Amino acid sequence: IKMPSVILQCEGITVEFDGFKAVQGMNLTLEHGELRFLIGPNGAGKTTMLDVICGKTRASSGKVAFHRTDGVIDITRKKEHHIAELGIGRKFQAPSIFPTLTVFENLEIAMRQKRGVFATLFAKMTAADRERIEKQMTLIGLQDKALWRAGGLSHGEKQWLEIGIMLMQEPNILLLDEPVAGMTDKETDKTGELLKEIAKSRAIVVVEHDMEFVRNFASKVTVMHEGKLLKEGTMDDVQNDDHVAEVYLGK
Ligand code: ADP
Repeated sequence: IKMPSVILQCEGITVEFDGFKAVQGMNLTLEHGELRFLIGPNGAGKTTMLDVICGKTRASSGKVAFHRTDGVIDITRKKEHHIAELGIGRKFQAPSIFPTLTVFENLEIAMRQKRGVFATLFAKMTAADRERIEKQMTLIGLQDKALWRAGGLSHGEKQWLEIGIMLMQEPNILLLDEPVAGMTDKETDKTGELLKEIAKSRAIVVVEHDMEFVRNFASKVTVMHEGKLLKEGTMDDVQNDDHVAEVYLGK
């Protein structure tokens, strides 16, 4: 039996924009294997928290510690690209795929980028490389569309390809903004299953508004309100909480 172990610890995070506190003293601890959902009304500070973790926004105070097998790294003041290299991947809503290239080529480029584009641009792919890409395509359910141009995929398939591209960077933590926005119910369920599978060997944080999706797939839910932690627990804990109901229903 594997004991749960901490992979990320955010302590007392405060973010100020011109004196306005978008996040105030927020704590967030993630464990290996978690599919964590971050919910709360608009303006609660959810996106800002993801921005702090990935280094896009600098916290005014507080600390972010990334627990890796080779030790704990304080990433509070590290640059975004450095944090990405250390193993924290962020997927934004804006697409990052190359639409005129195939599914296979998109994954191939992501793999080469991880190694340093200039060092490997002209290097031949090995059988192991090919196998790795095949495995990734199977995971994201696009094994039969390897030679499709990415631009011709459905909305859901494009999102899965983006997740596959992120995974080529071998992140330990994935941060996602509303990954199922615009998806059909079927695509949403497939995405949930995919994220559950991916989370097994990592941790994932998802900012989400689709409560049905959260209910079906969350291992744990964190509710933010006005920049602060309002409630944390299972979806049942959160749904039965009076403060959470007040915030959502405006009572
Ligand atoms: P959420 O993701 O929960 O909807 P955000 O983290 O996007 O909330 O925003 C939290 C608050 O911080 C909002 O009031 C928003 O207007 C404000 N905010 C976010 N980013 C900036 C910024 N770059 N400059 C000024 N205010 C910001």
